[in-house]
Amino acid sequence: MSKGVTVQYLQKYIRAKDYHEDPGREFFLKLTEEVGELGRAIRKNARAEDLEHIKGTIEEELWDVMYYTLALANLYDVDLEKVIPAKEAINAEKYYTPEELRYKPE
Ligand SMILES: [Mg+2]
Repeated sequence: MSKGVTVQYLQKYIRAKDYHEDPGREFFLKLTEEVGELGRAIRKNARAEDLEHIKGTIEEELWDVMYYTLALANLYDVDLEKVIPAKEAINAEKYYTPEELRYKPE
């Protein structure tokens, strides 16, 4: 993978490579499993020293969680790139005003 990887690209990549007979159950159970592994890595503050040694690190487990989140999005035909701004608008109303945002999208 290269720089400039988008959520849409990742969803297509996962759709092309990952197949299961019962994908909803498999992807959801794997997501919960990976969240647990991420929790363990965070508790141990297991950080990757470089990209050749990521096994059991926060870096590896963050990707695992993202992977199964995107796999579930594919299963339900959810285009997350379209959902993100809609959900962020809801969050903005609920949690902060636009003036409070540190990150200003272009
Ligand atoms: Mg994992």
